[in-house]
Amino acid sequence: MSRIAYVNGQYRALRDACVNIEDRGYQFADGVYEVCEVRGGKLVDLPRHLARLERSLSELRIAMPMPFASLAVVMHEVVRRNRVSYGLIYLQITRGVAHRDHAFPPGSVKPALVVTAKSLNFAKNQNAAAHGIGVITVPENRWPRVDIKSVSLLPNVLAKQLAKEQGAYEAWFVDREGYVTEGSSSNAWIVTSDGRVVTRSADSGILAGITRAVLLDVLAALQIRLEERPFTPEEAYGAAEAFVTASTQIVMPVVSIDGKPIGGGIPGPLAAKLREHFHQFSAFS
Ligand code: PMP
Repeated sequence: MSRIAYVNGQYRALRDACVNIEDRGYQFADGVYEVCEVRGGKLVDLPRHLARLERSLSELRIAMPMPFASLAVVMHEVVRRNRVSYGLIYLQITRGVAHRDHAFPPGSVKPALVVTAKSLNFAKNQNAAAHGIGVITVPENRWPRVDIKSVSLLPNVLAKQLAKEQGAYEAWFVDREGYVTEGSSSNAWIVTSDGRVVTRSADSGILAGITRAVLLDVLAALQIRLEERPFTPEEAYGAAEAFVTASTQIVMPVVSIDGKPIGGGIPGPLAAKLREHFHQFSAFS
């Protein structure tokens, strides 16, 4: 079955779907995106993703291309047309198409909207969680506005590639003060030997992950102690457990950091428990 994309008002076969070469997303990375998990054909935590989308757009002064309700209709339709039961939906909005000029185009230029969906292999994801992933650390070299979910991801791309070349799956950025900020495409967490869960506050240096936000609800409900504070790679090397969160990975155990085994080099029990309970706290639509 061929995949279908929504592109600026039309549903097109993916192979025929295209955008203008003067789209500002292409020329300046002048746009934002969202990724939602799809489970049982439903969108996971859509209202939270749309709220973050609205915030990213407003920080960049890009207009919402359509009301939330219409956007939700398009997203559901893309999931339906692609027959995704388990997978992800990707949504991108750019400032639109205009002759290349750094400053904003005239107000008449409409933002461009693309939505795609794809099926993922559930068993493969579960298998990855059963084995855990490796992480490397890299110097933070991104702009300070990482709270905006911008399509400008070059440092993230380079960090992920370096991780891959070193046999790891994710790279954690480390800021100038020596603290971990987040992963190239995930938020970073550790568990202390006395069972406290530690993750950096969303006030600075990280994207406010939706999975992170839901997990805070899970921790509160399960009465697990939380510390929102920065941690160093050295503290992480000695942690009882470590894991990352992202919409398509939920809670993914980390079993090594910079080649050093974490928690004996196998996924920890708390990460497994949080992963198991996660979707009881998600909203499906
Ligand atoms: N940080 C970064 C840099 C990311 O790219 C992502 C994934 N989009 C996350 C954190 C996790 O965010 P979420 O839980 O909303 O997927």
